[in-house]
Amino acid sequence: MRLLIVEDEVRLAEALQRGLEAEGFEADLAFDGLDGLDKALAGEYDAIVLDILLPGMNGYRVCAEIRAAGNWTPILMLTAKSGEFDEAEALDTGADDFLSKPFSYVVLVARLRALVRRGSGPRPAPCQVGDLRLDPAARTCDRGGVAIHLTPREVDLLEALMSRPGEVVGKQELLDRVWGPDAGVDPNVVEVYLGYLRRKIDRPFGRDTLRTVRGVGYLLAAD
Ligand code: CA
Repeated sequence: MRLLIVEDEVRLAEALQRGLEAEGFEADLAFDGLDGLDKALAGEYDAIVLDILLPGMNGYRVCAEIRAAGNWTPILMLTAKSGEFDEAEALDTGADDFLSKPFSYVVLVARLRALVRRGSGPRPAPCQVGDLRLDPAARTCDRGGVAIHLTPREVDLLEALMSRPGEVVGKQELLDRVWGPDAGVDPNVVEVYLGYLRRKIDRPFGRDTLRTVRGVGYLLAAD
């Protein structure tokens, strides 16, 4: 398994490289964001370990650029800060997982193995409801050919609703599926993100397809 480690603290990067190589990984290093981006796009990596605070270009932007280039290599972000805001931001720029510094080496290896396993799975198939189309793997969306920009979280939420058009999907199910069963986020986050989606997929088109069924959940209507 081949990894790219993007980390400007040279001693930490080299220690990670040695440690991961001892675990059977091959690991390339990049010490700034721009070099990290170049290597990520040029190389065939099974996973990328990406620090957030980097010279040249920060990890969030590196991650967003990698995804914008259509590259879906699993990304584990390292953050010196901890807290839900950073986690949400890391995941919304297209990262697959995150780890707060200082981290346990054993945990890092376990997370990387899990990411590589998941990364080799099939990408979700494109879906269509009425004239709304979504390709979850490419993270592209359009209505009647008009492109709509969605964040990764919005893509996941829309995919969950589009997989069962016309059916009510419960708030808890959406929370579990999009944010994860142990995320511990405020359940109202679902309503907030549905609002974002309505402003993107419905309102500009004079439509009302994303509906709240009070006390039950939400549904995406076909028309
Ligand atoms: Ca750093």
